[in-house]
Amino acid sequence: MRKPIIAGNWKMHKTVAEAVAFIDAVKTEIVSSDVEALVCAPFTLLPSLVEATKGTAIKVGAQNMHFEDKGAFTGEVSADMLLDIGVTHVIIGHSERRQYFAETDETVNKKTIKALQKGLTPIVCCGETLEQREAGETKALVKVQIEKAFAGISAADAPKVVIAYEPIWAIGTGKTASSQDANDVIAYIRQVLEGIYGDETSEEVRIQYGGSVKPSNVEEIMNESDIDGALVGGASLEPSDFIQLVNF
Ligand code: 13P
Repeated sequence: MRKPIIAGNWKMHKTVAEAVAFIDAVKTEIVSSDVEALVCAPFTLLPSLVEATKGTAIKVGAQNMHFEDKGAFTGEVSADMLLDIGVTHVIIGHSERRQYFAETDETVNKKTIKALQKGLTPIVCCGETLEQREAGETKALVKVQIEKAFAGISAADAPKVVIAYEPIWAIGTGKTASSQDANDVIAYIRQVLEGIYGDETSEEVRIQYGGSVKPSNVEEIMNESDIDGALVGGASLEPSDFIQLVNF
């Protein structure tokens, strides 16, 4: 059984006071151990969030990390630094990082390998642009993204990775892929994993959908056979929305 995972991606939002107030507002409503709930926040908020979520069912993730352990990499943060403060998850290869910050399939692979080596749970993002979708290239593209992201990762480690399928045209636009379309691509991603690792392993990997998920559509999305969770931007910023998302 794959445990559903609902993750907020706060992107570049919130001060420390706002983040702590958010956790205070949601923590008594997020109690189920049947769903994994987490918020992925800017680096500046992470220590306060780890503190604020102690004793709650909410976990804390970062939105990026570097693949080296240490060194002359101004502005970067390592896996060890995240572990040092109690962070458990890290988003890798979000489309905004690919688009604006030169993230590539190669750096996604290096970061995923490093996160696994260190014991962080990587949430690896993939997904197509509107042009790619309209050209019928979605499946070919996500196949390449997934095969490159998982290069060199063993069958024992693969189920520790969470994949987030986020069609870029559905991010922050209010346009959601239909739940069937999302499920179709996600089932295909599982097929790609089956091609690499075999049936048993591919059935263990959790795959989220992301792109304009909100309280009003989360249940339908989560009812799909292959969708194991959601990676939520805008709707994860409001406590009442986040509570509804996690308790879909
Ligand atoms: P929205 O939920 O705001 O569309 O963002 C999706 C996303 O990019 C999550 O990582």
